[in-house]
Amino acid sequence: MRSMKDFDADVIVIGLGAWGSSTLWRLAERGVRCIGIERYGINHAFGSSHGYSRLFRIACQEHPDLVPLARRSRDLWRELEDRSSEELLFETGLLTVGKPESDMVSGAIAAGEKFGVELEQFSAEEVRAKYPAYATVADDEVGIWDAAAGMLRPDAAVRSANEAAIAAGAQTFFDSKVTGVELVDGGVVVTTAGRIFAARQVIVTAGPWLGKLVPGLPVTPLRTPMQWFESRLGESDPSFEIDQFPAFMRRIENGVSLWGHGRAFGEPVKIGLGIDKGAFDPTDPDECDRGINPARDWTVLSRSIEQLFPGLDPVPSMSRPCMIAVTPDDQFLIGRPGNDPRLLIGGGCSGHGFKHATGIGELLAQMSLGEEPFMNADFVDPNRFDSASQLRKAS
Ligand SMILES: Cc1cc2nc3c(=O)[nH]c(=O)nc-3n(C[C@H](O)[C@H](O)[C@H](O)COP(=O)(O)OP(=O)(O)OC[C@H]3O[C@@H](n4cnc5c(N)ncnc54)[C@H](O)[C@@H]3O)c2cc1C
Repeated sequence: MRSMKDFDADVIVIGLGAWGSSTLWRLAERGVRCIGIERYGINHAFGSSHGYSRLFRIACQEHPDLVPLARRSRDLWRELEDRSSEELLFETGLLTVGKPESDMVSGAIAAGEKFGVELEQFSAEEVRAKYPAYATVADDEVGIWDAAAGMLRPDAAVRSANEAAIAAGAQTFFDSKVTGVELVDGGVVVTTAGRIFAARQVIVTAGPWLGKLVPGLPVTPLRTPMQWFESRLGESDPSFEIDQFPAFMRRIENGVSLWGHGRAFGEPVKIGLGIDKGAFDPTDPDECDRGINPARDWTVLSRSIEQLFPGLDPVPSMSRPCMIAVTPDDQFLIGRPGNDPRLLIGGGCSGHGFKHATGIGELLAQMSLGEEPFMNADFVDPNRFDSASQLRKAS
């Protein structure tokens, strides 16, 4: 047995998707001796962080206390752009549409009011006049415009965070699946097929696989197919360009919502179903069905598009399966399960975590070093769930 004095690193980060890459970058920036381990290659398409675009919002309707996280993330996305010379965040604005009392509209307003986010409110008539694709908006609906929101480029963002981490001194190991995480006296032993690593702490940011490496956490991986659409008038129809059909969230009724954006940066119109209860099937992340099945994958979505955006062909022009991991309250799990000083986790993204990746990386780096966190992190503490708080006692 090797001595825990022979640490390979102070901190090992397992999983280099958006959250892990950002965490590695923020650790390396602080001069921490850190190693990142990823089972696949960079920008692989099996987890949550790949693709053309992710929506970015400041007035986060999921929880008002996400606003400071979104703001810190925005500053760090800009810092990462400076490091990488790649444009990552485009502030093209975002429109939330629904009844004033709906969770999306009231949530965005509450977040905006708590933290002074400038939001514009449009009547249904104004929404219809400004955005031709929204002709079906009902008179009792409103639009909320978050001008500082927009879109991120995920592949470039993950690549840039990895490169910035390496430039700041981090070591990375790709195509290296972690098969064991053992908490031992004074540290942690992480096993891959080719090597055993020892460190003082481990941060597990394994996305949909989090529960495989840290069993007992309240996370459920879901298979979440993603679809793209075209205008019935073809690619030259200006009403579905990003300036006329901006990034949006739209509450239709209880249990059904849509989100997406118009044609932008070479990507067709993208529309997805919201992560409402029962919208997607749970999956074992190692057995996720990567095939496409129209009846299962877009029946509800196509029906909603036909009803709400009749200018679009409701049959997708492209479809790809992806995965996310959800928690019982749709908030993240960021912190130390069972308050174990050797283990930090970042997961349970619940479908709204890309925009916050850099801020989450910063938060995890602060937590690992015992720094004062830049935000209130109680609502994302894994120990709010009994199953997580009991983990240390069980181990
Ligand atoms: C279709 C879709 C659309 C989305 N849209 C938005 C959006 O508009 N806005 C937004 O903010 N968020 C959005 N999200 C959510 C967002 O993409 C995720 O919150 C984010 O990508 C989570 O990143 P992650 O690093 O936690 O997970 P992942 O990207 O899955 O990274 C986890 C990594 O861990 C690795 N790993 C797992 N097990 C092991 C192991 N044993 N050994 C080594 N490595 C391992 C995996 O290979 C993977 O690379 C969307 C998600 C999907 C799927």
